[in-house]
Amino acid sequence: MEADLKPTYNQFASDNYAGICPEAWGAMQEANSGFVPSYGDDLWTERACEHLRQVFETECQVFFVFNGTAANSLALASLCRSYHSVICHELAHAETDECGAPEFFSNGTKLLHVNGPDGKFDLAEVERIITRRSDIHYPRPKVLSLTQATEVGTVYTPDEIGAASELAKRHGLRVQMDGARFANAVVALNVAPAELTWRAGVDVLCLGGAKNGMAVGEAVVFFDRELAHEFDYRCKQAGQLASKMRFISAPWIGMLEGGAWLNNARHANGCAALLEQHLAAIDGIRIMYPRQANSVFVEMPEAVAAALRQAGWHFYSFIGSGGARFMCSWQTTERDVLQLSEAVRTASSAAGRAPGGTV
Ligand SMILES: *Cc1c(COP(=O)(O)O)cnc(C)c1O
Repeated sequence: MEADLKPTYNQFASDNYAGICPEAWGAMQEANSGFVPSYGDDLWTERACEHLRQVFETECQVFFVFNGTAANSLALASLCRSYHSVICHELAHAETDECGAPEFFSNGTKLLHVNGPDGKFDLAEVERIITRRSDIHYPRPKVLSLTQATEVGTVYTPDEIGAASELAKRHGLRVQMDGARFANAVVALNVAPAELTWRAGVDVLCLGGAKNGMAVGEAVVFFDRELAHEFDYRCKQAGQLASKMRFISAPWIGMLEGGAWLNNARHANGCAALLEQHLAAIDGIRIMYPRQANSVFVEMPEAVAAALRQAGWHFYSFIGSGGARFMCSWQTTERDVLQLSEAVRTASSAAGRAPGGTV
């Protein structure tokens, strides 16, 4: 009865529109018994860190924070002094979607952005930015930040990460990875998490939990443990030290121990692949980037986008006129995908029939 009363919400806006997956929910519930020490001094947190060490096959140091903006900002701030700079892609979340938090938490470290196709760096451009100046008037490049999977749903291969890291290290830069959708990249590439991180030269990973199926929380994973020095103070000062830490850390155990983190990502990527297949077959719809993770970006006539919104579909448009992002999550169903595909098909043929229609 209650289910009948729930409005259906047709959305491909973001993977953070999804709820909490059963594995994360179950672990949270399991952790909800009795008194447990606060601020991360508990067995749940210890076990979650141990799981992450197993997943990454190394003695990394792990911190849990509330969200990705904090994870990126604090990780970048810990790698820089205020007069340094961070090089990232012009579409990087740290550059476009964190409201200046990296600059704020680092007391002024500047983000320098570079271009490159498909949401990925052009390494020659990165090198040009690093080497174009060495005088005292230029904020000294100190970190290369890359996003995996990227903001446009593509992935860096281990070789590409290795080449970027090699370039960074050659010039004395550290490498940070924004892994809000890291699990989607692991599944897309079918390689061990270690191959995409420390074995390819990544020093710090901000590992996403929320978009993968958790309620809240991201893990900051330091592969170079020396870089983690006093990071706990930084978290506390930034208001990112949860007093009831077990409820942020326990879900990681639930996600990692039976492989739910990868199953969720595989499901989301699969939905995006199916959606891509359907949308690519519709006249007037153009797929904008290689679909490698859990999102599909399409260019479509403005009338089609308007008709979809009118029909109640939610999605983001952010690149140019008509560009739309359709994002899949662990909770997206094949039915959702087919319904959206059908809605796009209907809107497209209606737009094509309209006076002046271009389809
Ligand atoms: C969502 C996202 C984040 C984290 O965002 P919060 O809303 O702060 O949790 C970081 N990087 C990328 C690429 C993202 O898509």
